[in-house]
Amino acid sequence: MWSYPLVLALASAGVALLERITPARPSQPALRRWLWSDAIYLVFNGHFLGVGLAWAAARTVDPLLASRFDLHLASGWSIWVQAIVATVVLDFAQWTIHNLLHRVPWLWEFHKVHHSVRDGEMDWIVSFRFHWAEVVVYKTLQYLPLAILGFSGEALFFHAVFGTVVGHLNHANLDWGHGVWRYVLNSPRMHLWHHDADSPRARNFGIIFSLWDWLFGTAWLPDHPPRRLGFDGERALPPDFFRRSLWPLVRAPLPPGDPS
Ligand SMILES: [Zn+2]
Ligand SMILES: [Zn+2]
Repeated sequence: MWSYPLVLALASAGVALLERITPARPSQPALRRWLWSDAIYLVFNGHFLGVGLAWAAARTVDPLLASRFDLHLASGWSIWVQAIVATVVLDFAQWTIHNLLHRVPWLWEFHKVHHSVRDGEMDWIVSFRFHWAEVVVYKTLQYLPLAILGFSGEALFFHAVFGTVVGHLNHANLDWGHGVWRYVLNSPRMHLWHHDADSPRARNFGIIFSLWDWLFGTAWLPDHPPRRLGFDGERALPPDFFRRSLWPLVRAPLPPGDPS
């Protein structure tokens, strides 16, 4: 009965309700400019892109690579062991890939779409504002470890659900810090600093777990919120889902006088 679109709808409704009850920034409006664009990101990245990439992989790389790397190392483990190991392994892989998105210049061009979140826009729905090419990069780099370990569909579903709930919370208009659990689990306070416009270098790359950032020296958690969100040059990005989907493959002309 549980399907990913149903979980996504319930998580969205639940976190949106929490934002109304205890907002970190009470003056931030629920209805804002370009919300329709973020709604398209939610539906497209949350469902259609994954379905499309799975369809494409089943007809291209799966037949070529499955016989060579499909070792199913995890197939003998119980479902809960698989779910926990899959969540830890995939989250560490995604922490590493997120580092690359910031450090490799051409990957950063795609990841800019996620960092285009401005002041007044940080809410649960921007959790799904990212360029489709970024998803292709994540799926490609995760492909081999997943093929070797061969987790069950249920274990991967658990990771997807956990990641969606934590991702929604991380971007939500909530002042949650998770107490002592902040050293393990990513939080809205910590992820807000990942979107800081003034930091000289990016930090807090964690998706589900903050543990990787604390372990590898990339954690950053001052006791106050950042002064402003976004990145320098954000205004050069086109504003909506459709034009951003072509960016940066087809660069939009810069506005007159914009130095970025
Ligand atoms: Zn980032
Ligand atoms: Zn984010």
